[in-house]
Amino acid sequence: MAARILNGNAIRDEIYGELKQEIADLRAAGVRPGLAAVLVGENPASQIYVRSKIAACEQLGLGSWLHAPPATATTKGLLMLVDELNASDEVDGILVQLPLPPQVDTKRVLEAVDPAKDVDGFHPVNLGRLVSGRPGLAACTPSGCMEILRRSNIPIEGADAVVVGRSDIVGKPMALLLMHANATVTICHSKTCDLPGVVRRAGIVIAAIGRPAMIEPDWVRPGATVIDVGINRITDAAEAQRIFADFPAKLAQFREKGSVLVGDVHPGVAEVAGALTPVPGGVGPLTIAMLMSNTVKAARLRRERPASGGPTGAAAAKP
Ligand code: NAP
Repeated sequence: MAARILNGNAIRDEIYGELKQEIADLRAAGVRPGLAAVLVGENPASQIYVRSKIAACEQLGLGSWLHAPPATATTKGLLMLVDELNASDEVDGILVQLPLPPQVDTKRVLEAVDPAKDVDGFHPVNLGRLVSGRPGLAACTPSGCMEILRRSNIPIEGADAVVVGRSDIVGKPMALLLMHANATVTICHSKTCDLPGVVRRAGIVIAAIGRPAMIEPDWVRPGATVIDVGINRITDAAEAQRIFADFPAKLAQFREKGSVLVGDVHPGVAEVAGALTPVPGGVGPLTIAMLMSNTVKAARLRRERPASGGPTGAAAAKP
């Protein structure tokens, strides 16, 4: 039986509908939440990502600013820019688009962002809050996966969840969010023994690996929910033929455009899983939606908190 397809675009639209109301309430109180994006150099993929984030701000009526230092930018120059953005009362969220050029100390720049404005959820303070289950700003892609599960009524509590991938931006925060939602979580990585056997035990599989179509249909327990975080562009004809042998529409797309997107999950998994996110149109739209949501949340929390920082009181405890 074919899996239920979990439509990320529809879930994003639902979240945008809710955010528009929250933004209208903030604006009525004289607050216009705003996001500052820092895009260093001219990486084409980064330019596309930042453009779509700014377009989302415009769609929702959020303020947005683009800072685009040249590829020769230095750590010192970026630290000064981040300081300015930290100090600006108009800016609620700061997004430093990765990767930064090799001469820049990425960790230092990310750690310079005020945790209250860290809408990507990468700052160690926010990671620490996530570990201890305290309110803060959590990474967008894993938060988006949780929204997909919750809004699709997939039971999480008590489920066996397997997260394949342990990166700081996806796998680790994903595992923590699932654990806080009372799943029993296993984290897999490149040294995991018998990965297919471990994945086969899962009721919920999160694939965040960066390897095209790696999770095969016979790795998946029939009826399991599979969330495919991977985005891989296939440009090799033989690889496209191998992955999409049974998917003529995708092969036709490859022949027409010279490339095609595939997740970390083999498309044949749709015949085994109970529910599956497509690529594209699954997790991707939620990543931007959660960035918008974090910007609105940061605007709200910053005004509810005393200037000295730390979340206090019942209002700050709102997730
Ligand atoms: P990453 O930093 O490269 O991490 C990949 C993880 O996968 C690592 O933990 C690695 O294990 C593990 N891995 C690699 N090969 C493996 C194998 N053969 N068996 C088991 N585990 C293996 O990647 P990432 O940043 O987390 O991103 C993962 C994927 O998600 C990529 O395709 C990326 O493009 C996509 N992504 C999508 C969105 C979105 O909005 N949809 C957002 C972010 C990322 P080790 O730790 O042992 O090396």
